[in-house]
Amino acid sequence: ASETVTELLDRLSVVVPDYPQPGISFKDLTPVFADPTGLRRIVDEIVAPFAGDFDVVAGLEARGFVLAAAAAYATGTGMVTVRKKGKLPRAVHSEDYSLEYGTATLELHRDDVAPGTRVLILDDVLATGGTVGSAVRLFERAGCSVAGVGVVLELSGLGGRERLAGHRVHALQQV
Ligand code: AMP
Repeated sequence: ASETVTELLDRLSVVVPDYPQPGISFKDLTPVFADPTGLRRIVDEIVAPFAGDFDVVAGLEARGFVLAAAAAYATGTGMVTVRKKGKLPRAVHSEDYSLEYGTATLELHRDDVAPGTRVLILDDVLATGGTVGSAVRLFERAGCSVAGVGVVLELSGLGGRERLAGHRVHALQQV
């Protein structure tokens, strides 16, 4: 029988205890990205529920870039980079979000997406939803509509899905 996406993720993803700090169980998907079946499989399955509903795919720096570029190529759409503060050279929208300690900022070039564009936002892991939430706000400020949010793993119990209430959130696996 062919392998399910859950079996594929269980086989290839690696959990690293106490990284980057004690108490955090880091979900490392780089072996999934490195696998020829794995990358294609997760990208195809992440976009499937949103087929026809988006005009562009947004990737969140840095692991979201891998998924979003592949998804955009596979679906014949464009790819937009949402970057950490200070990386984009032209006029940006900026949105702060809270981390466990302190805050961080994501930025979007103001003219990378036209108002009315339907955006599919991709990242590797949804935890508290702070990161994706700030990306949602960036696209809303740019006049776009968020067609949905796709992630490989959702860490349930951290409130990410609740924080994104009102948006379609598709996770390949909940852990
Ligand atoms: P959050 O903003 O809390 O939803 O965190 C999501 C962002 O942090 C994503 O860009 C993830 O790549 C990363 N992240 C958070 N927690 C983990 C984890 N346990 N394992 C791997 N990545 C994580």
